[in-house]
Amino acid sequence: MQKYENLLRESKIKVTPQRLAIVEELDGHVHMSIEELYEAIKKKFPSISLATVYKNINAMMEQGFIQEVKVPGQKSKYELTKKPHSHVVCESCGKVEDIDLDLEKVTHRAANLSHYEIKEKALVLTGICPSCKAS
Ligand SMILES: [Zn+2]
Ligand SMILES: [Zn+2]
Repeated sequence: MQKYENLLRESKIKVTPQRLAIVEELDGHVHMSIEELYEAIKKKFPSISLATVYKNINAMMEQGFIQEVKVPGQKSKYELTKKPHSHVVCESCGKVEDIDLDLEKVTHRAANLSHYEIKEKALVLTGICPSCKAS
């Protein structure tokens, strides 16, 4: 718990037991939707509402501590902010995983081709994960 408390303080986020619980869940599960987080947090704080979980996530997103992963055809997932990375999503079980892919070249090329100023670099690839493929 101390580890998470320090992390929040370093990001200048007010430490509350609910926020600590959210960070702990995200650290353990990597990517979670609001509903998944809510179900997990409710076990520790039975009186917490979905709106409160949502508010806490938004507050931590504003501080750049948590980031949203937009997944096609699924509800957004949330993760602790780390270095830029891409995602693969299993269309069978819905699992979201990180892939360490360098998007610099792709972004550069996209900017050249479209003449857009690219602001958000996010790449989500969908497919079938190894365990779904095996079963
Ligand atoms: Zn799968
Ligand atoms: Zn991720």
